[in-house]
Amino acid sequence: MTDQILAVLREAAEPVPTGEIEDRTGCGIRYGQLCYRMLRRLERLGQVEKIELRDMKSRYWRLAGGPAFAPEPVRAHILRAKPPWRAAEVTVCGQGPGALRVVPWDEMDAMLRRPPPWPDLCPACATTRRVAWSDDPVAVVVAAAQSHALHSASRTALRAELLALACLAAEYPERFRDLLEAEQVLQVLGG
Ligand SMILES: [Zn+2]
Repeated sequence: MTDQILAVLREAAEPVPTGEIEDRTGCGIRYGQLCYRMLRRLERLGQVEKIELRDMKSRYWRLAGGPAFAPEPVRAHILRAKPPWRAAEVTVCGQGPGALRVVPWDEMDAMLRRPPPWPDLCPACATTRRVAWSDDPVAVVVAAAQSHALHSASRTALRAELLALACLAAEYPERFRDLLEAEQVLQVLGG
């Protein structure tokens, strides 16, 4: 059995989880205990190494000095459409964009035209329907108002923003009426 285990690890391009070694050596669940004992023995002999870092579910194994894990791809996110008076940016999946890889919408669309799988795309950001302010400001405001708990800050901000718009309209009624009449509200706010 040790030969089979070593053969599996020799072919592997990455460390292999214990369960996969059991499957590929034909040990299955039934002889899983035996397989694990063999792995521990090979470890004591210095022929294989155990790695426990990648996730909490599994132990991984490789030949001594064998291949490391391929680096996890950095996931691409997109920004949520927001009312243009709002400064803070947030991704569709509800994170501040700070340390994330954020791409323009058309770049996300281009990446989605590749055949799946897409381990380098954030699922929530990739699959969302994209509506820009200039396309449909009502949809953008409605989305901000309907934000679930994760984005409740967005709804709170929207409430304050609408009240502020009402105050501005009250303070500058003629300017506000001019903008409405000229149908320039979208162009002015959309920059
Ligand atoms: Zn995302």
